[in-house]
Amino acid sequence: MRGRATSGRITQDKLALFGGKPVRDTLLAYGHQTVEEEDIAAVVETLRSPWLTTGPKVQEFEEAVAAYVGAPNAVAVSSGTAALHAAAFAAGIGPGDEVIVPALTFAASANCVLYLGGKPVFADVRPDTLNLDPADLEAKITPRTKAVVTVDYAGQPCDYEAVEAIARRHGLVVIEDAAQALGASFNGRRVGSLNPLTTLSFHPVKSITTAEGGMVTTHDSALAQRLRAFRNHGITTDHRQRGSWLYDMDALGFNYRLSDIQCALGLSQLQRLEGWISRRGEIAACYTKAFRGLEPIQVPGDHPGAESAWHLYVIQLRLETLRVGREQVYAALRAENIGVNVHYLPVYWHSYYQRLGYQRGLCPVVEAAYERLVTLPLWPGMSDEDVDSVVAAVTKVVSAFQR
Ligand SMILES: *Cc1c(COP(=O)(O)O)cnc(C)c1O
Repeated sequence: MRGRATSGRITQDKLALFGGKPVRDTLLAYGHQTVEEEDIAAVVETLRSPWLTTGPKVQEFEEAVAAYVGAPNAVAVSSGTAALHAAAFAAGIGPGDEVIVPALTFAASANCVLYLGGKPVFADVRPDTLNLDPADLEAKITPRTKAVVTVDYAGQPCDYEAVEAIARRHGLVVIEDAAQALGASFNGRRVGSLNPLTTLSFHPVKSITTAEGGMVTTHDSALAQRLRAFRNHGITTDHRQRGSWLYDMDALGFNYRLSDIQCALGLSQLQRLEGWISRRGEIAACYTKAFRGLEPIQVPGDHPGAESAWHLYVIQLRLETLRVGREQVYAALRAENIGVNVHYLPVYWHSYYQRLGYQRGLCPVVEAAYERLVTLPLWPGMSDEDVDSVVAAVTKVVSAFQR
């Protein structure tokens, strides 16, 4: 399958896009959950217990995640999106408030601001790590800015030294969208303990899964109380704490509860998180070693002190060295049965945001990067042969299209 080096030149097998034999026979997804027998047993045990939802497993899972990340409080909710909504609520975001959000992220990072009547203000990223650019964060601050949602893109923590200093100087709340970064750390401290509010996701492609699910971690017990009420209609006590029929709803909340069944799955998954993160790191290191020497590929940049959870491995194509654009590289890799993806369309390019009046051109680094991004498959259950097939296909495709 691999191109052979002959007198310094690479001879290619014909691309599958043009009728050649694909590097692999079956499609390799960009992300996939790992569910083992012990996970299934934990779920079945809960199904046989008296509690299907809001029972002992919720608290156990919250305590286990809190202990793992090193935060005193963790509040389980029904998704990463619910976690963002709850965190923005707890931070007091409301009509008229501006919240700065990097433009290269999943739309939910910004949508949570709109849910509360606030205004997302999009900031640019650094061209190497694709994480929030602290200089642009500071440039976008106005007297109305109340908070910043930082996104740990691809699982790599942002430059929190710089972000913290800016937030302190301007009195901003930092909400860390760590949907992709459970298991990562910054300057030796785990993600989940770095900022006043951190949100996690347990969607199947993330570090661990509960099918759908999320969590907010915080050092502040008053914030934790607001989060707990928000996930349960704004009611101040839960049924396990109440001795009587009386309860009070003192804020407008939602039903964002996570079930005991899901928390049992999450607890079981958490036992294997460390091993999965190191397998992700191992695969990422193989890719970097293979691609660093290929002229058309810019490998992911790392920030000093940031240890990534390696949720995604995103390459940037050096388009000036290729005869085609990203669309064709993408199509050619798909034809080789490599399930590549693109993370993300700049948030404000979505038609909903366009209708709100956001103009193209707001974040030039994000827009330029977007044209060059390709996400390669990366998940802990990939075999060494899977990894080799990605390396072979990427090498085959970019060599075929190189100028
Ligand atoms: C996955 C993800 C979310 C949303 O999480 P869900 O659990 O799918 O609601 C939010 N932000 C980022 C950056 C994500 O990757």
